[in-house]
Amino acid sequence: MKILVLNSGSSSLKFQLFDMDSHRVLYSGLIEQVSDHQQAIIAMAEQLSAQGHIDDLTDLDAIGHRVVHGGECFKQPTLINTRTIEAIEQLIPLAPLHNPANVLGIKMTRQSAPGVPQVAVFDTAFHADLPDYAYTYGLPYELYKKHHIRRYGFHGTSHQYVTRKAAEFLDNAYGIKNTRLISLHLGNGASATAVLNGRSIDTSMGMTPLEGLLMGSRSGDIDPAILFYLARETGADINTLDDLLNKQSGLKGLCGQNDMRTIIEQADQGDELSTLAIHIFCYRIKKYIGAYTGALNGIDGLIFTGGIGENSSFIREQVCTNMDGLGIIMDSHKNQVANDALSELQSPHSKVKILAVKTNEELEIALQTQQLLDS
Ligand code: AMP
Repeated sequence: MKILVLNSGSSSLKFQLFDMDSHRVLYSGLIEQVSDHQQAIIAMAEQLSAQGHIDDLTDLDAIGHRVVHGGECFKQPTLINTRTIEAIEQLIPLAPLHNPANVLGIKMTRQSAPGVPQVAVFDTAFHADLPDYAYTYGLPYELYKKHHIRRYGFHGTSHQYVTRKAAEFLDNAYGIKNTRLISLHLGNGASATAVLNGRSIDTSMGMTPLEGLLMGSRSGDIDPAILFYLARETGADINTLDDLLNKQSGLKGLCGQNDMRTIIEQADQGDELSTLAIHIFCYRIKKYIGAYTGALNGIDGLIFTGGIGENSSFIREQVCTNMDGLGIIMDSHKNQVANDALSELQSPHSKVKILAVKTNEELEIALQTQQLLDS
């Protein structure tokens, strides 16, 4: 079975072709500077056929689309039809940067691959069962009813993939069942999720991916009154403030760089703001670990994933230092050499298992697409 996974951005198209018998990637492509999505889909089909994988897109068994925002309508992967597309379009106000491009990719692919089943897999769906006290903000309740203002959470396919892998491992290796896990997806975007028995019960990103941890260029949690203060003091308008929090803040706003490798190098060379940025980044993560340990009444496993979580032994060590009070004790050597799809990092004295798990959002989308079609 061949499943194509598509991630359509506003100016790029990322795609991967999977052989679902082996879960192997047959081909991986990226088309950049897309101005016409139809042309991009044609170029993608040409690449796949030039490599001999298919004659045209109708040879595919299924297509899975990453869709960023599923709102409250989509709690599961969903077969795409005209009604699904309309419903995703209605969610555009909640994700104005992402959902329009996702819809465009879906529409163009449907034209080029008539008859091929297509499935939408939502970044928000894994968090769809958050309890009401975790997703409701302390605002007038009618704002939730009228304007759908609530926590949705993101990075769902990644958190779902790594927590499933971790739960399988902990059951096989230690007989731990009904796992209480904290998943830390630390990349350019970053989020923490508390997972009980395979379901997300709380997550740090909110109505939009701006809330929570410090990120590459996003502020994460701030006192919202800072915005009123800035507007009054500087006359900044909404667009300026939006740009400030989403694009000029976070690691970049603090030390001028959003690439963690460069920031660690700068800190090594004595740059004080880079050192401060790293301290803030790690301290925020520690605070969320503490909060979610409370929400879960203790944890069995702490998972690091995403570009930083998978690759930076330094950041993992900073996060786990002085956390023995919560039962988290890292083994420095295991942490240094970790390089497998799933690596254990805890010392024998640690109550909590510490795992670095390589995420695979595209495979998760392909698996969920296959599962829906098989059901
Ligand atoms: P992602 O968004 O998941 O692709 O992650 C991107 C982030 O991972 C960037 O900030 C990179 O600097 C960071 N990253 C990748 N490799 C390393 C590494 N070896 N050490 C520190 N950060 C890394």
